[in-house]
Amino acid sequence: MRDTRAGLDGLSGASISSARDRGEEPSRKRQRVNEDEESQPLGAHTSSRSTKDPECYSGPRQAGDHIVLVQGVLFKFKDHSLGECQRLKEKIYRGRASIPAGKEWTDEAPYKVEDPRITPTQFRSLHWFLHLSPEENVALKTHPTVNDFTRILHLSAICKTYAMNDVYRICFEFIEQKVTKKEIMDPMSSEELTTLVKAIIHLQGTTTVIEDEGVKLAKTLTNIENFWCERVIKKDGAIGSVPSIHAAEQLNLSRLRGTAYYQHLEELYGPDADQRVSTDGIVTPPKVNARLNKEQLIRLFFGHSLLVNFWDTFRPTPMQLPRAHECSEEEHKICSAAWNNAWKTVLGWGRLTRIASFRVPELIYILRDMLSNEKELTEPVRPACKRAGLLALQKKREELQMGLGSYFLGCITA
Ligand SMILES: [Zn+2]
Repeated sequence: MRDTRAGLDGLSGASISSARDRGEEPSRKRQRVNEDEESQPLGAHTSSRSTKDPECYSGPRQAGDHIVLVQGVLFKFKDHSLGECQRLKEKIYRGRASIPAGKEWTDEAPYKVEDPRITPTQFRSLHWFLHLSPEENVALKTHPTVNDFTRILHLSAICKTYAMNDVYRICFEFIEQKVTKKEIMDPMSSEELTTLVKAIIHLQGTTTVIEDEGVKLAKTLTNIENFWCERVIKKDGAIGSVPSIHAAEQLNLSRLRGTAYYQHLEELYGPDADQRVSTDGIVTPPKVNARLNKEQLIRLFFGHSLLVNFWDTFRPTPMQLPRAHECSEEEHKICSAAWNNAWKTVLGWGRLTRIASFRVPELIYILRDMLSNEKELTEPVRPACKRAGLLALQKKREELQMGLGSYFLGCITA
């Protein structure tokens, strides 16, 4: 049955249900399997380990009901419900035509969905959608609940497989409208954000998507990734660095990968970390999260090494000071000399030397701040040249932050 009606906008997002079947969906890089692979040996009996889905298989099977098996879970479909999904109906009927007269798909010999990309969670959402009454269907489009939102996200993954253009349309409009709402987005966990991103990636892969919608989906995906990165940096609620590392790698989100790995380094070695080297040089091993596998640990610590190396290389050679229009080449020699002197001066001060070398974005931020207040950079240095130099530093920091993902790709052996 449909969830109790409640306006999506009026509910606390904290009640958004999570994706239950964690990690069951394959990577988006996985290729579409041939549709023929979804066929099943006729009369094949199910394993005794199959279970009835508590939500989608209640009560006894009645004549005409179709029993469908998805990854060990049995679903019961009313025949009339398949009208909204002709592709599934054709598959079920095509297979049934080969069964001896009078025989139907049953618990013992169900119609098997063997496409490994289709999960019970997605199929549960499909079952829910196909069994909505006409009134519920209208309500879904006008006053969707938070649970509707989650179900629609799961459904988006299979609307292409089953050629359900109406579902694609609903998914697209849901996502475009709801991701702008703070009360929906703010309470989302990394698991729920993963479901949302997967839904968008699935929609991007549908053949029905038109150019304008494709652009909107790409923009929405970027906005969600930026939102996610901000939450990781703020250590906000349910968004942790480690689940975000897993999600970023699974979803191939480069900026999130860089942000999440970097944030985890901050937790290990940053100003709030417990890690300390004693005066005799002996250090206790850092406590890394057990959910990171060996490959991820290599990427984490190799990224640390690359960041330290960046700072060691960047620090000794002052960035070239850009020349403003109003400054002549001759005058600019004075500007540049003062800039280089100031650069070397501030780098020796405790405010910078106390900061761990891997924290390059923070180091560049402080370096810029110190140069902006440096007495050596007053007259005769042209203010416009100084501003250009500070702007160049700011851009360098932004470039570094945007490209942090490239620091955490591990290493290659020659
Ligand atoms: Zn100048």
